[in-house]
Amino acid sequence: MNIHEYQGKALLAKFGVAVPKGYVAYTAADAMAVARKLPGPVYVVKSQIHAGGRGKGRFKNDPGGKGGVRVVKSIDEVGAQAEAMLGKVLVTKQTGPAGKEVKRVLIEEGCDIKRELYLSMLLDRATSRVTIVASTEGGMDIETVAHEHPEKIVKVAIDPVAGYQPFHGRKIGFALGLDSKQVGAAVKLLGALYKAFVELDCSLIEINPLIVTGAGDVVALDSKVNLDDNALYRHKDFAELRDESEEDPAELEAARHDLNYVKLDGNIGCMVNGAGLAMATMDIIKLYGGEPANFLDVGGGATRERVTTAFKIILSDPNVKASWSTSSAASCAAT
Ligand code: ADP
Ligand code: MG
Repeated sequence: MNIHEYQGKALLAKFGVAVPKGYVAYTAADAMAVARKLPGPVYVVKSQIHAGGRGKGRFKNDPGGKGGVRVVKSIDEVGAQAEAMLGKVLVTKQTGPAGKEVKRVLIEEGCDIKRELYLSMLLDRATSRVTIVASTEGGMDIETVAHEHPEKIVKVAIDPVAGYQPFHGRKIGFALGLDSKQVGAAVKLLGALYKAFVELDCSLIEINPLIVTGAGDVVALDSKVNLDDNALYRHKDFAELRDESEEDPAELEAARHDLNYVKLDGNIGCMVNGAGLAMATMDIIKLYGGEPANFLDVGGGATRERVTTAFKIILSDPNVKASWSTSSAASCAAT
């Protein structure tokens, strides 16, 4: 499950990660009201959508205009920029050409940025360890950095038994070229981030950029927090963080019926009993030059109703030109 930047920052702040002060707003009037609670004189108005690249993104109604993150110097400007963003469609590298409508904005204190760094924490499936990934190239796509300057990426894996240790943080801090005071701040921030990652059952936390301020503080300026769907039952309070308007309607409908559905770009719809068989079916389609339109596991004990719903979801995708249904002997017997 994905959440908004402001929600991610609020969760991380509870664990002691340093974030700028800020408040969410749904209208321009609210935006001005919450801006008055900030120290000023520099404010930042940030579009809240489930996609990155907002700063460099452009609004559909104003393709030559400014992006989805704007720095302003007065409360009136906060209102004007919030007004310009709310209800408009922002197109970024991550939204695809359709873009996403901005329904909320984060009003944040403007920070004095000296350096922009990249930091993330994720579960590395190859080593089965929570791994810290960092780079001096903040603000850029990590995929681009990995492609063009792989030597600028440093990774540190954390032993799950011993957990996070200060030496992990020091290794990252020195690799990022921080001075001794900043390394101390990074060690603390990373410890808080690891605690948040484990306790919140995250699958990814990405801070891009992590900044060093003029005063030498180390602050998370952006946040992308992905919560592991398989652990949501352990966090009933996350339900209020869900923003269904940001999710794919077919995937949402599938989740309501307990179906594992992931939309893909091809034109062959797949309906399969069992995740392993679903993967194998997609592999066969690709082997013969086709492209699956979806991954769909209806599960072993699928009822007539679930199969009907699954078919409706598959057929709601206009790209689907053909459909493939595979059922394992075991699940045939079960159904
Ligand atoms: P995105 O990754 O979606 O473009 P970010 O939150 O990373 O959004 O913001 C983009 C850029 O805007 C940052 O790299 C930073 O330069 C600037 N920025 C964002 N928040 C602030 C802030 N609170 N103060 C000053 N500059 C900011
Ligand atoms: Mg960012």
